[in-house]
Amino acid sequence: MRLSTAIQRGALPGSLLLHGPRGVGKQRLALWVAQSLVCSAPGTDGTPCGRCQSCRFALSLAHPDVHWFFPRPRLESGATNKDVTNDFADAIAERAAGSGLYAPSSGLEGIYVATVRVIVQLASISPAMGKRKVFIIGDADHMVSQEGSDEAANALLKLLEEPPANTTIVLTSSEHGALLPTIRSRVVNVRVAPLARRDIELFLADSVVADAMRRAHRDVSTADLVRLANGAPGALIAADEREAAIESAERLLASALSGDRSKTIRAAMAQGTSRARGRFADILDALTELVAERARAAVASGDDRVALGASRAMASIERAKTLIPNNVSPALITAALLRDLSAELS
Ligand SMILES: [Zn+2]
Repeated sequence: MRLSTAIQRGALPGSLLLHGPRGVGKQRLALWVAQSLVCSAPGTDGTPCGRCQSCRFALSLAHPDVHWFFPRPRLESGATNKDVTNDFADAIAERAAGSGLYAPSSGLEGIYVATVRVIVQLASISPAMGKRKVFIIGDADHMVSQEGSDEAANALLKLLEEPPANTTIVLTSSEHGALLPTIRSRVVNVRVAPLARRDIELFLADSVVADAMRRAHRDVSTADLVRLANGAPGALIAADEREAAIESAERLLASALSGDRSKTIRAAMAQGTSRARGRFADILDALTELVAERARAAVASGDDRVALGASRAMASIERAKTLIPNNVSPALITAALLRDLSAELS
């Protein structure tokens, strides 16, 4: 059954999981489902009107009864519900400003127990504006289980199993297999297929989106973008993020190799402070690849000294990665790392 038909008949399950390829638009679809559910004048086919106050709020990601959660960097221990709410307000404002386009969640971002507590708490209160409230939990496979709070975990499972009558919960996941089985078994699974060529063309024809894509992929034709998207327009953004990470990693490596202390400090400072840890993790991943390439080339040419240095450098990068979740600023991590790399790669 089509989602819109289920919505129109009031037959949508209380909790469902949209799963399918990364970048295919699952969270976007979940937001559309949410808008359909809160719309005060939906069409006969269950689609949202797009004009009522509820639709306008939902479209600007500001509807008080549409709650969107997704993986975030871990907050300091002892973070209150208010801290979590503020963190999501910032993150959602960022996503809204990016015209709905955003990078995939990095491996360092999770849905931590503090967030689960907020979800459970919000689910227990009445809708603020309409009759129904909707929770979207994007990339639900990033849900962190081993945090010793059985209470929050159990409350979430109970919520998924039996959501209140006025509540719909939509999970999304690109890695169905990575989703906790206790969660997977409690929701109705709906597969989201890759988009058809025509849909991708429509997506790229949207002016705001097309502008962003053109900036990201300057010399690529629309036909090539459609091919590149391969049914998942979000992949275009991921490709762009990856390129940016590789460029940053190349800059860091060049500064380490220059042996110029002031240059490395400037490069480190450019990594900034606490924000965007996920992106920083991607940069370090790219750096590992660059150094690994160097190691392979050295081995191939029989240069043992360079090969050994490169393997030490890779270990240093791995150590640096372990510091990211501990709230050490990327600038400090980078400064120490570049000092090590300068010595190891010289
Ligand atoms: Zn509406």
